[in-house]
Amino acid sequence: MTQNTTEDTNADTTASFKIHLLDLGRGSSHQYGDCVLCQFGNISVLIDGGHSNDAEIILPQLQSVLNQSPVHVSLIITTHPHDDHIGCLPKLVADGQLTADWALLTDPQYRWGNPGDTDARFALQPGRMRSVAEAVLEHDRSDMPDDELTPFIDNLGNLETRYRMMIDRLRNQGTRVVLHGEDETELLAAFTGIGLKVIGPTREHLEECARLVRESSDDSFEELDQLFAVDSPVDVATIYRSMVAAPTDAVPRNRGAMNLQSIVTSFRFNGQRVLFGGDMQFSDPQVDSQLLHDGVTRMRQDISADAPYAFVKLSHHGSDNGFSAEILGELGDTKLYGICLGDARGHHPHPDILELLNENRQRIDWVRTDRNGLVTITIRADGALPPQLTHGNIDDATPNTVDDTDFFISETLAPTDSLGTNGNKTFVETSGSAAAEIFARVPPNAARVSISVDLTPGSSKVTTDAGGVPDLVSAGEARILSATEEVTDAPQLGPSRNVLLTQLNRTRERGWLPFFNEASSQFSFPVALLLAIASRESNIQNILGDGGHGRGIMQIDDRSFPDFANSGRWKDPRLNILMGARVLSGKQRFLSQRGVDGDLLRRGSVAAYNSGEGNVLRAIRRGLSVDTFTAHRNYSADVFARAAVFSELL
Ligand SMILES: [Zn+2]
Repeated sequence: MTQNTTEDTNADTTASFKIHLLDLGRGSSHQYGDCVLCQFGNISVLIDGGHSNDAEIILPQLQSVLNQSPVHVSLIITTHPHDDHIGCLPKLVADGQLTADWALLTDPQYRWGNPGDTDARFALQPGRMRSVAEAVLEHDRSDMPDDELTPFIDNLGNLETRYRMMIDRLRNQGTRVVLHGEDETELLAAFTGIGLKVIGPTREHLEECARLVRESSDDSFEELDQLFAVDSPVDVATIYRSMVAAPTDAVPRNRGAMNLQSIVTSFRFNGQRVLFGGDMQFSDPQVDSQLLHDGVTRMRQDISADAPYAFVKLSHHGSDNGFSAEILGELGDTKLYGICLGDARGHHPHPDILELLNENRQRIDWVRTDRNGLVTITIRADGALPPQLTHGNIDDATPNTVDDTDFFISETLAPTDSLGTNGNKTFVETSGSAAAEIFARVPPNAARVSISVDLTPGSSKVTTDAGGVPDLVSAGEARILSATEEVTDAPQLGPSRNVLLTQLNRTRERGWLPFFNEASSQFSFPVALLLAIASRESNIQNILGDGGHGRGIMQIDDRSFPDFANSGRWKDPRLNILMGARVLSGKQRFLSQRGVDGDLLRRGSVAAYNSGEGNVLRAIRRGLSVDTFTAHRNYSADVFARAAVFSELL
């Protein structure tokens, strides 16, 4: 490496350096990820590498910015061992497309343990089980469609191998590799010209993270042991969703333990400092560890002491656990912020963070790669010039949703005969952010219809009121506000009170009621609701139903949960009831992540237990009853009718 950078102290007002926030493309697996290239004179620093399948989009950008192929950089940094940060770097290095003088790399032992150690627990696990356990440690991807989620999970099974091979290759090529937590003296000395500062975390902090990661992955393996026998065909996406959805054991209790490993660096060049924090959860560490909370506080103090910065990358893709009003204050007169994302979808950046930025737009600017593509920021001694964007506008505060926009636009109105005979239906279609069309079907007996549309910037609330039945539905980029709707063409709901009393008595006699209570407290559903589902599904009997596909009291489907069904565990009433509640919880989470809330969420989750969450979402987006695609088109209405009776009888 040649070091002829401008000395920190002799700021040259015409000299500049550049920060490039790379575009991570337009696939749905690309909701967010980090890849940043900094050019300080002839010293180049590459921070993170997007996703594992981003090589085709990242490499051309690197080649074009650096005007070389293969690409050579002075320093590679991997902030933390998540797939959306390690990304395609192992592939680029393996293909000979990327070389480096130095590398400051997140140490794989803090995620996977050390090879040969007793804590190298991942290496000992069978393939698919390992993949799911790895996926649980990643950012929550449960909103991905199955056909993307499954390869994503499968691919994680060899993330450790790919990453360790990258480290070996770099070393073999003569790159000076420093694993973060090791002695960094020489590295820092080599990069004094660009004022490299490694703000944290400390080795002690990393070890604490590793301990928490170990705990949660042990929990995962325990859970997975129960969830599937390794030699039977398993739908990993469903297993993964059920684990991520479960409110108790399977969810990493210390969610932040991976992000909190993020290497936080700043650089000072030509008198201006820039900050990169990976996914560090500066505002909410999400761990039960005082040591880690203290570590984060210390890093924030260090960062604040150097403020203001010419540029700050918001950590964790603009998530609300990475940034806050308080942190904005700590950054003083910092004027320019950047958010690394991917496609303009998904739950990042957090709407509250966008709102916070928006509230301060008089004094700050921000860029975001989901809306701006490749962003280049030129920084001179007197600060940053207006960023160059590939598209969109600076200071865009539009929140993303997890709605699948493509799916939505391609949807057409259902044929009239499936809309119900006299229901009031509203359907809102948006195409990008440019236009909204509203279709409203009005009940023939409606006395009054009013539709109000509030399309102020950043919101697209649509409310309708037909025949006194409010039906508030919005779509596209807006959230579903609330809705009440009745299934008007359903037959008389549910069996008689006497029949339900008989079912309840039988449940008591067989000793199953405690299992419903257990499932109720574990998954936070009313006992009466779980009884009602069991009643609708099996008359609360431990039977094989639904053409042989439904198993047991809760009729767990062997196509969705093949292992559970094939293992025979479905016959255990307790496990069956718990599994049913877990499945319901997964449906609820799926819908909740797509903006469904309130009563619509309550009923939609139950409908999804029968017709699948995709069908319920489709119905909601069309303004139809959540029961539209359920058996007899009355599933949730029927279940809630039964639940009302059970709650009186209990
Ligand atoms: Zn990330």
